[in-house]
Amino acid sequence: MITVKVFPNNPLDENTYLLYDESKEAVIIDCGALTKDERRTIHQYVQEHSLEPAHFLLTHGHFDHIFGAQWVYDTYGLSPSILEPDLPLYNKGCMQLLEMFGTHLQFSVPNPGKILHDNEEILFGEGIKVKAIATPGHTPGGCCYYISGASPIIFTGDSLFKGGIGRTDFPGGSYEALTKSLKEKVLTLPSSTIVYPGHGASSTIAAEKASPFF
Ligand SMILES: [Zn+2]
Repeated sequence: MITVKVFPNNPLDENTYLLYDESKEAVIIDCGALTKDERRTIHQYVQEHSLEPAHFLLTHGHFDHIFGAQWVYDTYGLSPSILEPDLPLYNKGCMQLLEMFGTHLQFSVPNPGKILHDNEEILFGEGIKVKAIATPGHTPGGCCYYISGASPIIFTGDSLFKGGIGRTDFPGGSYEALTKSLKEKVLTLPSSTIVYPGHGASSTIAAEKASPFF
């Protein structure tokens, strides 16, 4: 059985996810932990549950999802996996976006780890497969992470939220590309699939199909 723990972080309430099974091997999806307290909260949970973070996956390269990337690397030795089209954003474009938000906050990121491709599967725990599904449009390399099975779940980053889709007005964004990939590759997943977005509350594919965006 997979346990999903969410940690809302930073002023934008970015959802950092920790998922794990009985093996205690864990996957971190995005990490926007900015403050010492936010990072301590995550690490205490990891220690209290004797978890061993083994993979660090990014849904995209926006700053609010990678504030804690360097900390994850320093603490657990994990470099983030990301889709290739978001590498420029991850490496430096996020700073431009930060300036668009009117802040000059500086932060560093580690070198990226594995470069993922659409439909690539990451294995963890007791044979669990996490599939990367490319959903460009919020960013060029935006993606979702899907785990099939009796209780399917998907982590949608800023591509799909409860009752809506992500912004497409940032550099490299495309409303057409985002709605197309979501319609074709995400809304076609089982209706019972639980949607864990990059901000806000979780939802289901059934509920999202009824969203006015589609
Ligand atoms: Zn974003």
